[in-house]
Amino acid sequence: MGFDNFGTVSFTTEAKAVDFITYLEQGKFMTTRCRACGTLQFPPKMDCPHCLSSDVEWVEIKGTGQLATYTVVNYGPSGFESEAPYTLAVADFDGLRVFGRLSRDVSGADIKVGMALKVVSLKLPDGKVSYEFQPV
Ligand SMILES: [Zn+2]
Repeated sequence: MGFDNFGTVSFTTEAKAVDFITYLEQGKFMTTRCRACGTLQFPPKMDCPHCLSSDVEWVEIKGTGQLATYTVVNYGPSGFESEAPYTLAVADFDGLRVFGRLSRDVSGADIKVGMALKVVSLKLPDGKVSYEFQPV
């Protein structure tokens, strides 16, 4: 199973970081940290962009983050037309910026920069997996 099992529309089937999907299926939201320089990455990268080491480890992103910024998508791009409107967000988890969708349960005036968020893995109706931010 690979990235063809991720999200509403999959743009790639193979990636070095395919374990990301396996962890999501287990309900874990994981990313990578470089063992050589300690840099945490999101999305997960199997080669460190800072020191070029391939010695990376998987670590779980848990706890509470804060909404750093967001945008409401009213006209979805190809493959996402039927899903709009939805909210794309960047959340800060102790300095690590994570990109994803905000839960549909939060909208309009309820969305506040700085609001506390957690990241949750999702099983989509078609059996694929994804994740979203939910308020804490
Ligand atoms: Zn590194």
